[in-house]
This record gives sequence, C-alpha cells and structure tokens, in this order.
Amino acid sequence: MLDVRKAVFFSRDSNVPIIGIVENMSGLVCPHCNAQIDVFKTGGGEKICGKLGVEFLGKIPLDPGITEKCDSGEAFVTAYPNSDATKVFNEIVKNVTCLSRHAKKSLIKLQSSESFFLGKCR
Ligand SMILES: [Zn+2]
Repeated sequence: MLDVRKAVFFSRDSNVPIIGIVENMSGLVCPHCNAQIDVFKTGGGEKICGKLGVEFLGKIPLDPGITEKCDSGEAFVTAYPNSDATKVFNEIVKNVTCLSRHAKKSLIKLQSSESFFLGKCR
C-alpha cells in the first residue's frame, strides 16, 4: 500500500492524471472447489482509494489463465469469457469509460476532489 500511496503522490506532484486504482492479485478461486482463497490481503485497494480521494476501478483475481494467455499473446477475455477475471476486466473498462466521459476535462482536479464520478454511470 505504501507503493500505491507513493505513486499517487508522485503523479499528483507531476500533474499526471490518475484515472483510478486497480487491486491486482486479489484472491484466487480454487480450481478444485471454487472456494475464494485470499492469498494476499484484499480490500486494501478500496480502503486506500477512500483515503486518497481516488476512484477504485476494480479488483482482479489471480487466475493462471491470465498468465497463460499473456504468454501466448491471446486475449484472456475472449478465451475465458465466463471467468470471474473477465467480469472484473469488463467492469474496469466500463468504469474507465464512464470516468473519461464525465471527467474528461477535470481528471487532474479529480485526483484531489472529494466527489467521485463513477456513480453517474450506474
Ligand atoms: Zn478448493
């Protein structure tokens, strides 16, 4: 989380717009019984977004298929259209599209703003 905080402050200091934060490697769905396994802590992404006033875009679960398809140069979302990770990727795309539509001219302001834009598309 310290690295995320540093990246947000660095971007703000450099006037680089922050679209939002994605929590990566957020849990693993057991391939044997489909139980959710929290390999690392989860929920930190949402928590830090609230503290820093940055949009939370979604949390991508660990999925061996992502590595497999990245290595072979194929699109994970078309190879595994029904996976949890695909649902999350699609949700993140929807969130980024919403933000770019509503906050296009104010992304730099958005970083320090208390008001979040994602509610407008839901
Ligand atoms: Zn299991």
